[in-house]
Amino acid sequence: MKSMYATRACSGVLLMLWIAVAGAAGDDTTLVLVDQGKSDYVICLPTEPTPVQRTAAAELQEHLAMVTGVTLPIRSENDIDDQQKSIIVGDAARLKQIAPDLNLQQLGYDGIVIRTCGPHLVLAGHATRGALYAVYTFLEDVVGCRWWTSTESYIPKRTTLRIEPLDQVHEPRLQSRAAFYRDAFDPVFAARRKLNGHHHRISAEYGGHRPFCGFVHTFYPLLPPEKYFDRHPEWYSEIDGRRTHHHAQLCLTNDAMRRELTANALARLRNQPDAQFLSISQNDWYGRCECENCLRVEQSEDSPAGPLLRFVNAVAEDVEKEFPDVLVETLAYQYTRQPPKLARPRDNVVIRLCSIECSFVQPLADGAQNEAFRNDILGWSKIADRLFVWDYVTNFSSYILPHPNLRVLGPNIRFFVDHHVIGLFEQGDAHSSVGDFVRLRAWLISQLMWNPDLDERLLIREFMQGYYGPAAPHLIEYLEIIHDAAERSGVYLRCFMEDTSAWLSLEDLNAAMACFDRAAAAVADNPEFAKRVRRERLPLDHVWLNRYHALQRTARIRRLPFAGPEDPMAACEEFIRLANEFDVRQHREHGRFQDYEANLRSRFRPPGPPPERCRDLNADQWFDVPAHQIHLARPGEWTCVVQDPLAADGHAVRMPGDHRQWAAQVRFSDDLRVGNPWRCYVVARYEGSVDDGVAMTMGIYDSRDGRSVAHHQVDVDSAIAGQYQVFDLGTHDLRGQMYLWVAPPERPGRIDSVLIDRIFFVRQTEP
Ligand SMILES: [Zn+2]
Repeated sequence: MKSMYATRACSGVLLMLWIAVAGAAGDDTTLVLVDQGKSDYVICLPTEPTPVQRTAAAELQEHLAMVTGVTLPIRSENDIDDQQKSIIVGDAARLKQIAPDLNLQQLGYDGIVIRTCGPHLVLAGHATRGALYAVYTFLEDVVGCRWWTSTESYIPKRTTLRIEPLDQVHEPRLQSRAAFYRDAFDPVFAARRKLNGHHHRISAEYGGHRPFCGFVHTFYPLLPPEKYFDRHPEWYSEIDGRRTHHHAQLCLTNDAMRRELTANALARLRNQPDAQFLSISQNDWYGRCECENCLRVEQSEDSPAGPLLRFVNAVAEDVEKEFPDVLVETLAYQYTRQPPKLARPRDNVVIRLCSIECSFVQPLADGAQNEAFRNDILGWSKIADRLFVWDYVTNFSSYILPHPNLRVLGPNIRFFVDHHVIGLFEQGDAHSSVGDFVRLRAWLISQLMWNPDLDERLLIREFMQGYYGPAAPHLIEYLEIIHDAAERSGVYLRCFMEDTSAWLSLEDLNAAMACFDRAAAAVADNPEFAKRVRRERLPLDHVWLNRYHALQRTARIRRLPFAGPEDPMAACEEFIRLANEFDVRQHREHGRFQDYEANLRSRFRPPGPPPERCRDLNADQWFDVPAHQIHLARPGEWTCVVQDPLAADGHAVRMPGDHRQWAAQVRFSDDLRVGNPWRCYVVARYEGSVDDGVAMTMGIYDSRDGRSVAHHQVDVDSAIAGQYQVFDLGTHDLRGQMYLWVAPPERPGRIDSVLIDRIFFVRQTEP
């Protein structure tokens, strides 16, 4: 088992890294910036400081005052003589004498310099934000300040501040750094975390950010079908021989279309003079053009990325004439992820790869599950000097669940920068504040984006100790348990995981609860730490609520302890109350928590009477999944729970007959192995007025092995409309990563709906 965290005691991790490089080329004088509450230093600014340099000086002054109690004066270099001991912030003219070898103009983008020169300390850097970043780095790594969140910091207290010799240059390899977390939208916090991406709306005083003109998926915003399709259907995808704009893209070999799109893009750029990137990128679905011309290019390029890149290059050539500094960005996403054989991105074109299909329990660099993505990024890095990546670092299907990807965050960022990635968008829990250790993640990811060479295990340990105090070792143990569980299970950990049954066992959950119990006990006398620990337990609480009946069954079948709540209804109410208290907002992407509350509560309704064939069986020999516990895909569209007096507990899952999605599911967990084999039954009915054909389908699918275990088609002539019947799916060995599904027949106007009363299982061997 890999361990995420060093076990040796360690504080001031970053400081130690700094000392290791200090003294290499600079001065060996120790500076005493503050001595017993007194200082003879000033903060020295250039004669005409930039807004960023002023902010840098003010941030330094304010934080040093908080640390030492001494407020150093801020002076223009014109107003002080050469002998004045100074902390020089920015590119002051006197640097030519003090550090003649220093060439700030040659520093890389966002680069910083921290150097002691004689009695002086220099905090400077690249013109855009360097001085501010140098100040922040100094305050963090040398003074020991920590900004855990936008509102929670650690500021050390010292009456004497002694600085050992320093000589450090750092040029971040990632020039665009975005951590998509709600708290990181706070502009000052974002600046302190050295984030500068599109969504971090940082003012010019704090160095600004790197805005896009159109963030992604700009084909239709630039050429709206409602405006153009009627006149120019040939500008849109040809699919199955017909031009369409429904879930389609653009016809990328159409020159007239390209001219219009380019004109529209240029008009937008003129309205957004601060834009540094222009997005020319595909819509957020498939539906590429299959016209003869597009397919010919695609075949010669061996990839749909071929026509796309040729198109984007041509747009970029025109954009460059008016906006030579704007980079044109396009996506290598889904069907365009594989690089083309011939086309090469122009100098002003940036490709952004998206890792949406990857598994986040194994590193991208060598995980067997991620071979396809790895090959694609290797391919792109061979033909492009600069890449961007859109990476997915949370679980968009359910923010409030454990998401064991912490071990891959550091390796993946290193893998990116080793393959020409200069811009990274880490899409995290921007819409929820009670996700899986979201504050740790925002802090850790921003730290690693600034310097991927830092040891993420030490960083995690540092955050945990600083932010949770004495609870840290227990929470670290908790993280180890859930990461070990995921690795052991072999699960393919997507960024869309509906629940944890595929990888998190009852034993692991029991152990995880014990960690949180110990963590809570360790901070019982500190209300602030206690509140943080309680909040971080919500994802674990959610697992118990999500899988309550199945986990109770596991405990019963396997005679294991059950550490979940004794009174699930009370636990459910507490979960809802705390989630709202901590301002949860969304529980999944685009899903408001308040809309989810009723669904959660409904799972603990009283059960209906047992199915007829289970009446004489004891509790260990069967279990059922009533409507409220069936997993629903796209609730409100593909599925919903309705009142149904014909159903055992008065409720049924209803699916309209106009789709054929496997939208109602029961996911299995590994505990069922103990009872194998199980006979599987679905109690369902349909409504409609037809005489023949399919009424519904159902089956069992094994997602680990990618195979169908059972498939049953219910025909209209074998079922009676409006009446519940028991359908037998046969006897099967069940385990985690398998699920039972039911689907309507996609017969709009003929089958009105499919309803499921319950799904139940009968053990075929004696317990
Ligand atoms: Zn076409």
